[in-house]
Amino acid sequence: MIIVRTKYLPPSRNFTAINLFGVFFVHPDVKITKRLINHESIHTAQMRELLYLPFYIIYLIEWLVRLFFRGNAYFNISFEREAYKNEYDYDYLEQRKHFSWIKYMRKKKGAKKSKKRKKFRRKLNKYYKHNG
Ligand SMILES: [Zn+2]
Repeated sequence: MIIVRTKYLPPSRNFTAINLFGVFFVHPDVKITKRLINHESIHTAQMRELLYLPFYIIYLIEWLVRLFFRGNAYFNISFEREAYKNEYDYDYLEQRKHFSWIKYMRKKKGAKKSKKRKKFRRKLNKYYKHNG
């Protein structure tokens, strides 16, 4: 993996690193850890199987769509979910199946619904009962 240290990328300091076509750009003050390398390597695997460009297109579309949903849009992108979930599993890439990120498009079944959401659903049901 090629690592380039530059203060210009990523453009936002909210992010520690950016992976562009398998080249890994990191701010000079960011510590490069095994976990960070693993996270970015998972993205590289995702990019490769999508032949690079479609990765960025899907990434952008997913982010835009998820802006309208509950939770943090960035952390809910399927590519990020896969990378964050497995970044501490250093053998992950050796046994990973192609297109594994698709499994992360939807939250796992049985994932707990938040109390706020449950309350909202109850209110909504009540409303429809009363108003047809
Ligand atoms: Zn990431």
